[in-house]
Amino acid sequence: MPELPEVESLVAFLRERAVGRVIARVDVPGIHVLKTYAPPISSLAGLEITGATRHGKFLDVDVSGLHLVTHLSRAGWLHWRKFLPPAPPKMGKGPIGVRIHLDDQSGFDLTESGTQKRLAVYVVNDPSEVPGITRLGVDPLSEVFTVKAFGELLEGVRAQIKGVLTDQTVIAGVGNAYSDEVLWEVGLSPFKPASSLSPEDVGRLHEALVRTLQDAVTRAEGMAAGELKAEKKSHLAVHARTGLPCPRCGDEVREVSFATKSLQYCATCQTGGKPLADRRMSRLLK
Ligand SMILES: [Zn+2]
Repeated sequence: MPELPEVESLVAFLRERAVGRVIARVDVPGIHVLKTYAPPISSLAGLEITGATRHGKFLDVDVSGLHLVTHLSRAGWLHWRKFLPPAPPKMGKGPIGVRIHLDDQSGFDLTESGTQKRLAVYVVNDPSEVPGITRLGVDPLSEVFTVKAFGELLEGVRAQIKGVLTDQTVIAGVGNAYSDEVLWEVGLSPFKPASSLSPEDVGRLHEALVRTLQDAVTRAEGMAAGELKAEKKSHLAVHARTGLPCPRCGDEVREVSFATKSLQYCATCQTGGKPLADRRMSRLLK
């Protein structure tokens, strides 16, 4: 599940490998991933890739003024291919949504594993035509994301801090994994109402958020696209580690499950030793 640091690394990777190359051909074996039809994705063929950038968790490839924008969502990924076979992949089969062939026979696949079908690809004249991009909140690695600005975002917000951190319209780029990690790092319950954080909590959370994301970006620098997922996983303390010992106190990492996702936390470090109610479990037990 790529978040800001992984998308940032993909951007850096594409700048190095793809910028300056001309798109030779576009295959679209997964037509459902395409969310726009004008201009057609085939119009990218013959044009030079002139830039790559990130908006929150959106990846934006500038193709001579046209923008190939991708939201990788939960199970999407960009697979770099040093050598692409000339035969097009089978339509509607397998994980490949879009395949971009470059003029030196390299290229990349935008893929989605699993059944969720949330990978979204757009071809637009301006990134602001993508609805999710216009709604994005502040980028946590930008200069405007000061501790004061963060405090103002949380003021009067009764929603739980976990939900606020992952709300893309508030802060752009933070997802399930890094929000679990920073809340564990500063010892805050994911269910704590945002407005109830003390100024000290706000300061510590801001510091942890910026540092965690920046560290992840730095570690991923120069790494191949294929290595990023394992790299991210190897540095997680609580996220996706249910049942394993907390690296700080040794207590068991616990989980709260929702319909399609779950969060992880340490009760000793974050909730005064009290396990949070797992709604799905308690509903099943009734
Ligand atoms: Zn702990």
